[in-house]
Amino acid sequence: MAKNLTARSEDYSRWYNDLVLQAELADYAPVKGCMVIRPNGYALWENIQRALDDMFKETGHSNAYFPLLIPESFMKKEAEHVKGFAPECAVVTHGGGKKLEEPLYIRPTSETIIYHMYSKWIQSYRDLPLLLNQWANVVRWEMRTRLFLRTTEFLWQEGHTAHTTDAEAEEETLRMLDIYYRFARDFMAIDPIRGLKTDSERFAGAVRTYSIEAMMQDHRALQAGTSHNLGQNFAKAFDVQYQSEEGKMEYVWNTSWGVSTRLVGALIMAHSDDNGLVAPPRLAPVQVVVIPIARKDDERAEVLRVVDQLETALKGRVRLKVDRRTEVSPGRKFNEWELKGACLRLELGPRDVAAGHVTVVSRLDRSKENVPMDQVAVRIPEMLDELQAALLQNYRKMQSDHTHKVEDYGCFNEILDDDGGFLLSHWCGGAECEAKIKTETKATIRCIPLDAPEEQGTCVSCKGPSSRRVIFARAY
Ligand SMILES: [Zn+2]
Repeated sequence: MAKNLTARSEDYSRWYNDLVLQAELADYAPVKGCMVIRPNGYALWENIQRALDDMFKETGHSNAYFPLLIPESFMKKEAEHVKGFAPECAVVTHGGGKKLEEPLYIRPTSETIIYHMYSKWIQSYRDLPLLLNQWANVVRWEMRTRLFLRTTEFLWQEGHTAHTTDAEAEEETLRMLDIYYRFARDFMAIDPIRGLKTDSERFAGAVRTYSIEAMMQDHRALQAGTSHNLGQNFAKAFDVQYQSEEGKMEYVWNTSWGVSTRLVGALIMAHSDDNGLVAPPRLAPVQVVVIPIARKDDERAEVLRVVDQLETALKGRVRLKVDRRTEVSPGRKFNEWELKGACLRLELGPRDVAAGHVTVVSRLDRSKENVPMDQVAVRIPEMLDELQAALLQNYRKMQSDHTHKVEDYGCFNEILDDDGGFLLSHWCGGAECEAKIKTETKATIRCIPLDAPEEQGTCVSCKGPSSRRVIFARAY
């Protein structure tokens, strides 16, 4: 465990890989591009799942499960969708030792099979809205992969809804974008930008795609969640019709929305440091680790007695772990729990016992506080809240420090190569300009921010007229 992480300043990308492996969050699988999520990483995902699932249910959604295998003919029904996904699909051609009559796609996403089922289940306006979500795995054959951020198989949730009007579908699309935003802010301590994707970046088969875009510590952007208004594209391809109150047959309006295990990568990249994982308390697998410190046996018995009191005082209030190992020195335990991202370290030695307090060390900056034993139950949860708030504040400062208003294309390139970050620039709305900038600078339009004020300006590339700024960035 004494291994050291590569410093972020030396090689950010290696630091990330070192951290994921050494903090035992994930490991490489035998198949290239796949990963094994280890218990410490999976606990983060479970906490993400739990919080989001509650938010979905509070807004009227139910969970269901659809199959992994999708008939090839389904994939081909929506023209744009198949064009977007076919190149990265894994296809099963044999089963039970025989060649299949129709190849089966391993789902890259589930619109096709879900809307096929919706066409059976939706008959009347009384069946609407239909608000389902599924927690599942999907496979997209990626060429360049990275633990958590881009893997061939990943875990996610995909919501799929059907509505009677376009306006209702748009309202749902924005509602779910807002849920992703609030989750990122309140649980992940990340304050991403909400916005609309340009046509070239929109989901294959959608009318409009919205996303939340976060900044990582190397100032690159990471798309952390997407919400799509699918219009009637899939309803028409899969014949999802209902009888309206007036007795007319109408096509439904659909939305879909998703976040994935990529969020674990975002959380690591946004907050962690050269000593290891820094996890926001609301999602951390271990919020509090207790390290008993005793050299002699008689000291040890006394220390462990107080450790038991601590455990009782904090039970049910925080996710706590007592590291009772005797063969590992306290110093090594400190390093190990910093690496694994325990938010607070409670050190308890004979001197602490005598003084009637416990020494609390914050994962964020190693600041120390002596908390009297009779205040532990109140003060420790409070300190976790303070740490959560400090992480959000640090994130906001980073994002605003590295967001630049840029007017001139020369500066645009310089800033991208130097500081990176979010570049707020005018764009004429032309796909040619967008593509040209992408080729020349590797920066893409992350989104057209929803809260961007109207402002007259000229396109950073062609000098054509523009009425608002968009966000350009190099992205993961
Ligand atoms: Zn332009």
